[in-house]
Amino acid sequence: MVPALGVCCNEYASVYVTGGPIPALPCPKCAAVLQAHGWHWRFVDGLFTALRRVKCWTCIKTHVVLPADLCAYRDAKLPAVEAALDVGAVHPTAATRAAGIRWDHDEVAEAVRKVRRWFVAFDARFDQQVRALLTDAEGTWLERTRAVVGSSPGALVRLRAWLWEKHRVLLLGPTGLRRHGLVRDDLRRASPDLCIVTAPPDTT
Ligand SMILES: [Zn+2]
Repeated sequence: MVPALGVCCNEYASVYVTGGPIPALPCPKCAAVLQAHGWHWRFVDGLFTALRRVKCWTCIKTHVVLPADLCAYRDAKLPAVEAALDVGAVHPTAATRAAGIRWDHDEVAEAVRKVRRWFVAFDARFDQQVRALLTDAEGTWLERTRAVVGSSPGALVRLRAWLWEKHRVLLLGPTGLRRHGLVRDDLRRASPDLCIVTAPPDTT
């Protein structure tokens, strides 16, 4: 998985799906230019959406090009996760609202559970991994993130770009970090939000 740095969900289709040749992306392992190679379908904002797959013909490895602000394996965006984190785990319903998740009356429990799972995912191990990469700052992983990339909204999107450019480590979102964007098959299988097919999207 490689991030489409600078290209968020709202522009992704025009750059990577309906446009002409895709921007040149280097392979995270060998730097060869990745070639367009089919499609990866998953839910984005509840809609089944095509993402680009690309392949490194040197490493013989395929990657999905992930919009800059989209979490891997979750139908959630990094700014929404950040808004929930700012409210804090002790106020789960308020955090869910801050994340912009809307629910019908009988779905509130599921919406809150979704956000609680984010908090659980940012555990001590995640904290330790991010802190090890942000050694020029002090504090928790989120405090260090803001010290390094700035504290205005969008810090997690900027953290993803920073980690990728400096360390070739991909911030997936609540699912953690992966060096070179390489993810394990069990993560792929465990996600309810995606499946992989090679049919192109209908762009008419
Ligand atoms: Zn490669």
